[in-house]
Amino acid sequence: MILRGKAKAVYRGSDEDSLFIRFNDDTTAFDGEKAAVLPGKGAINAEISAFIYRYLAENGIATHLIDMVDENTALVRRAEIIMIEVIVRNIAAGGFSRKYGIAEGSPLKNTIIEFGLKDDALHDPMINESQITAIGLASADELAEMSRQANRINELLTPLFDNAGIILVDFKLEFGRYGGGIILCDEISPDSCRLWDKSTMEKLDKDRFRRDLGDVLFGYRQVLNRIKGIE
Ligand code: C5P
Repeated sequence: MILRGKAKAVYRGSDEDSLFIRFNDDTTAFDGEKAAVLPGKGAINAEISAFIYRYLAENGIATHLIDMVDENTALVRRAEIIMIEVIVRNIAAGGFSRKYGIAEGSPLKNTIIEFGLKDDALHDPMINESQITAIGLASADELAEMSRQANRINELLTPLFDNAGIILVDFKLEFGRYGGGIILCDEISPDSCRLWDKSTMEKLDKDRFRRDLGDVLFGYRQVLNRIKGIE
């Protein structure tokens, strides 16, 4: 094992250029203050994320995913992770609603792209482009490319979820440097997105855990079954 994160562990790969990422059943919220084990979560998220990464790859987005090796484990390209979280928002919710006093569910006149510093101890504070370039976390060109890809991913995922009867409210992306460019890393799953049922507005994502809204994995299974159903 090279690294153990909150919901995934990273292992040496099949060669120098790859890694294994194992999705586990642990779930945490509020920077690790709230934690639980949800049996089966790892396999569900691994399958959702692989489904989405394959769809994105088919549509021109370079990702770290090489292949799934078992139901919890992905073989991925070994990229140098950029320590920035890219958050895309289509509808006001979560941290944005809290910070700016905008009711959750309010429509937005344009898509929001935010950057956050990937640092749990500092609670992943929002950081702007001049701050990022000033401390050397990423170059202006890299930030422009990350924003471009984030917008494109949003354009691809919004209809994917819509066809599955799900609203893509917001989500978080992580990128890494690889082969002279930037590739999509980490995961896209109900742990990293807000996903609402289009007809009932029921939350199908990690807010079920954060806000004690009942059976967490019921929502995750809905997401998996519905996106697979529109294959
Ligand atoms: O909390 P906030 O509203 O800023 O989160 C926006 C989106 O990014 C949510 O979908 C949340 O699940 C995701 N996120 C994440 N990891 C973080 C911060 C946010 O997956 N560290």
